[in-house]
Amino acid sequence: MQVVALYEVDLHCHTTASDGSLSPAELVRLAAELGLKGLGITDHDTIKGWNEAEEAAAHYKLQLLKGIELSTDWLGKEVHILGYELDSSSNYLKDKLRNLGEARQRRMLKILERLRNQEVDISEEAIRKYAQGDSIGRPHIAQALMEKGYIRDIQEGFERYLGVGAPAYVPRFKLTPEEGIELIRKAKGVPVLAHPGMQRLEEGIPAWVEAGLKGIEVLHSEHKAQDVTRYKALAEHYNLLMTGGSDFHGEACKPGVELGRWGVSLRVLQEIKELAKSN
Ligand code: AMP
Ligand code: ZN
Ligand code: FE
Ligand code: FE
Repeated sequence: MQVVALYEVDLHCHTTASDGSLSPAELVRLAAELGLKGLGITDHDTIKGWNEAEEAAAHYKLQLLKGIELSTDWLGKEVHILGYELDSSSNYLKDKLRNLGEARQRRMLKILERLRNQEVDISEEAIRKYAQGDSIGRPHIAQALMEKGYIRDIQEGFERYLGVGAPAYVPRFKLTPEEGIELIRKAKGVPVLAHPGMQRLEEGIPAWVEAGLKGIEVLHSEHKAQDVTRYKALAEHYNLLMTGGSDFHGEACKPGVELGRWGVSLRVLQEIKELAKSN
């Protein structure tokens, strides 16, 4: 049971707007209880958690960074791009996010079909219980599979059915990293490369800096000490912001990843806000 945050701010968290287990208000409340001064919410492909998070942040007097996490594809590797402080009134952004949501919906239907071929019968409603937003992902399907007794835990769901190479795996539509960066920039946000240590992405970085990347997530729950050293040096070399966060999804979705155990100082949150204002 966690008692206190180790950092001032945690800039990478998910809520029920995508595949986290806490609502935006519950997440902000937990952050306040742990003593965090600020929080970045970064749901996959959606900004639908922002309003509720903003209200809660005002209530708890917590600084909020409104973000998003886009998964992109680079030579078959997953490259996740965080975008902070995008302009939520941008029609361009709304269009792009609607397209991503619709692609996720179509993919979910394909996965259900493939599951039926495996004698696994799960309804869309069963998944909807776990996916409240429009950012439906495999963790929601895994939760429904667990509820119906097909698997014992989420991990088994990925191994037996949903993961790469498993019989119900369906790839998701993905932008390229450059397209992800462009989307965020056109929506006046600040693009940051998420957890590069998970996929070893150093070779892609020069082109992404050229495309407008503004930061690298150096501190992350899945980064080893060598990753922190390597990506800190690269951030310094390219004069990029160094950000950090836990990638908290809640105990039910990603056990063992504690809010505020990875992060950065409040100064970084403020720098990102200033950068966004100058966009
Ligand atoms: P999707 O957006 O549907 O492609 O699903 C991606 C999400 O699934 C990410 O948030 C991961 O945390 C989660 N995920 C991917 N692989 C696994 C795995 N092997 N076990 C548990 N969760 C996973
Ligand atoms: Zn997630
Ligand atoms: Fe990610
Ligand atoms: Fe994430």
